[in-house]
Amino acid sequence: MTAFRRKIVAGNWKMNLDRPKAVELAASVVARAAEAGTTELVLCPPAVYVEAVGSAVAKSVVALGGQNMHDKASGAFTGEIAPAMLVDLGCRYVILGHSERRTLFGETDAFVNAKTKAALAAGLVPIVCVGETLEEREAGRTGEVVAGQVRGSLAGMPAGDLAKVVIAYEPVWAIGTGKVATPQQAQEVHALIRTLLGELASPAVAAGIRIQYGGSVKPDNAADLAVQPDIDGALVGGASLKADDFLGIARAFGQPATVT
Ligand code: PEP
Repeated sequence: MTAFRRKIVAGNWKMNLDRPKAVELAASVVARAAEAGTTELVLCPPAVYVEAVGSAVAKSVVALGGQNMHDKASGAFTGEIAPAMLVDLGCRYVILGHSERRTLFGETDAFVNAKTKAALAAGLVPIVCVGETLEEREAGRTGEVVAGQVRGSLAGMPAGDLAKVVIAYEPVWAIGTGKVATPQQAQEVHALIRTLLGELASPAVAAGIRIQYGGSVKPDNAADLAVQPDIDGALVGGASLKADDFLGIARAFGQPATVT
């Protein structure tokens, strides 16, 4: 079985930048998007700047994404954002279940699952984040924890829907710490996730699902990650705040991949 998975590098700007800087960064990525080669580029600004960044990337190859959303369509959910609101502003992607959402804001697999279904129903591509803590890794529980998050976050979804999601494997101990997982550590978990996706959907569907790595990805470590057979791009935090670094990472992933 052969599958082509276009590499995807997404910038999670988190709660950083101001409006002029956000627009400037987006404009710079748009102007230099060709440097990314075949890699798909996604920018996920803070919610209040999504519209401004959306204008900056409009009619370009650079896609827009939200960092979070609620699963309900409307109602008394103060401070929350409905899926259709992100669509309204031109978003194609939405990051769901980021470890900061899980640990700082108490998001459970069940909530991430509801959001994932709601995102797909609204026409958004969910980037579903999973990953173990250092304590869990040191206890030899990485596989069990990640598999549990994947099963929980994607529960009750038909294969046709699973085919549309992007998974981001982000070991919590590597996020914002400067400690990147070794390419072998990352590949091992990516392969495990793909095997599990094969059980949840089918091996053919799993072979087409993109799995990003996230956790201190920089231009100088991206190439070693990019050559791993099951690493299909990166979800980038800190390094996405500089066009040079973000595009350097995207460039490292810029070769088409054929997987057998
Ligand atoms: C992230 O927050 O998704 C992330 C991977 O952050 P960083 O690249 O800064 O580790």
